[in-house]
Amino acid sequence: MRFVKRTEKPLSLSIYAEQWTKELLEQIEDKGSYSKVDTEYKERYRQEDVKTALEMMYTGHCCYCESIIGISTYGRIEHLKPKSLAQFHKYSFEWDNLHWCCEVCNTSYKKQKWNFEYPILDPSLDNIEDYLRMNLQTGEYEEINDNPRARTTIEDTGLNREKLVKARRRVVVRIVKDFKAHQQCGNAQTFLAELREVMEDMNFPSLYEDLITYLLVAE
Ligand SMILES: [Zn+2]
Repeated sequence: MRFVKRTEKPLSLSIYAEQWTKELLEQIEDKGSYSKVDTEYKERYRQEDVKTALEMMYTGHCCYCESIIGISTYGRIEHLKPKSLAQFHKYSFEWDNLHWCCEVCNTSYKKQKWNFEYPILDPSLDNIEDYLRMNLQTGEYEEINDNPRARTTIEDTGLNREKLVKARRRVVVRIVKDFKAHQQCGNAQTFLAELREVMEDMNFPSLYEDLITYLLVAE
């Protein structure tokens, strides 16, 4: 998980978000509960320009696990503050609440979770590296200074689920091995520069960033 700079609000939301929110809240009032409202009113955030903007903002990666989306999974528009919670219905079409997420994180882990005391970190608002540290030895995320929001984030998004940890470990092992081979040939710097060039096309770009920093010191 890493910080991203939020881009400009997509046109569809600039034009319609206010009206859609008003209509949604009226529907909830009329029907008596959110669950009775037609999806037509709840899912108007599913616009092509919103998807495109989120995909670009996250360079095609999941906002939580940083896997590349679109090769074997569809991207999901994620509401960090769950839209189904009464307090957050009003953020259903709020650009600042929308993120780009893989199906696994979205439907199997984060779901409708929200911790009001220690909210999950917001990748477009919080400086993630002040809260979470990647342990390159284990491939696991660790909370910096036992921060409770970091703990919520790891637990509620499954950031340390076994498959992710193993996949991250595989990346570390392979790159360290390649680095050592290049080091022996005297071109470790070129190898790291090339790694930096391709990291945005890989799963876990922030892991690459951490690894490059670590290996630069080793060099
Ligand atoms: Zn994910």
